[in-house]
Parts: sequence; structure tokens; C-alpha cells
Amino acid sequence: MAFTLPPLPYAFDALEPHIDARTMEIHHDKHHAAYVNNLNAALEKHPEFQAGDDIDALMRRLDEVPEDIRTAVRNNGGGHSNHSFFWQIMGPGAGDEPTGELADAIRTAFGGFEEFKAQFKAKGVGRFGSGWAWLVADGKGGVALTDSANQDTPLSQGQTPLLGCDVWEHAYYLKYQNLRPNYIDAWWNVVNWTEVSRRFAAAK
Ligand code: MN
Repeated sequence: MAFTLPPLPYAFDALEPHIDARTMEIHHDKHHAAYVNNLNAALEKHPEFQAGDDIDALMRRLDEVPEDIRTAVRNNGGGHSNHSFFWQIMGPGAGDEPTGELADAIRTAFGGFEEFKAQFKAKGVGRFGSGWAWLVADGKGGVALTDSANQDTPLSQGQTPLLGCDVWEHAYYLKYQNLRPNYIDAWWNVVNWTEVSRRFAAAK
């Protein structure tokens, strides 16, 4: 069974004015779709890895993928996993602040929400070229920051992503051009903290 492109869980313009509709349309319908198509093409050589309903499970065992397709799966399977995740942790009418146990964990790890946002932004701004900034579960009940190049996912490092910001230019260039820091500042307004909290509770 081949992997499929999940529908965007809201309208292209749902994240306006922070993320513009045209960017969302191209990002989902072209970029994410291409990762899915290229992943499926690579897996034709090894159909035993075509478990098309769980891309995250495949990315967790990337080191078991045959070497002749491992780079293609790393890039395109990672792209599929990361973007499927990304659409979920954003949403319309979102963007306030984490609450409950997640807020506590962020306070413990970073000192406070504003300090966390500053450190996360520094990860995203500091990632040279294309990649992602991540908040992950640290496996000990807490949270930690990391970043990755290209479409590498924390799942392949044994980590559980809770929040991720796509800092590829395709995520922001139409509206923000070269101003990645401004994009990240605006992006906080669309973070779906309810979903991030749900993932944190599930990871514990
Ligand atoms: Mn992207």
C-alpha cells in the first residue's frame, strides 16, 4: 500500500495573515505531494517497507531501510513525516500559550515561555540552509530543543517531536522573503498548543 498525501486539516487561508494562503497551497499541494510521490517511487524497489499508513514508524527504523533507498527515504519519508506533523501542530485561532504539564516542563527546561521562544527561534535562525527547529520529549518526562538539516526527523534519532518549525525558504519566502526571523515571530501566532500538549502527554 502506497503512502498518500493527507488533506490539509483547514483551508489554505486559515492561517492568514501570519502564513499566507498561496504559501500554504504550494507547500501542501506541491512540496508535500512531491515528498510522498518520491517516497513511493523509492519504495517500489522494496515493497516490504510500503506500510502506507504509518510514516512515523518507518522513519523510526530508518537504519533498517536498505542502503540503496535509504537516502531517498531519509529525505522524502522525512519530508512526508515532517509535513504531516507540521499541519497538525498549527491551526486557525491558535497561538496563545501552553498550559498545564507542558507549560511546567517548558518552565523547568528553559525558565519560562518567553525564554523558550527565544531559544527556539535561535535554533531556527541558526540552522544554516534548509531544515527544522524542534521541541522534543527528552525521554525523561521533560522537553528539549534540537534542530535538523534538510528533512531529517528527530524520530530517526529515537526522539519524539512535539513542536517543529519548517525553516526551509519554501515555508516563508513569498511573504517574508529573506527575513526568516520575522517568519518565526509570526509563526507563534498559529501554533496549536492543544495538539502539542496532546503529543507531550502521549510521549510521557
Ligand atoms: Mn516544507
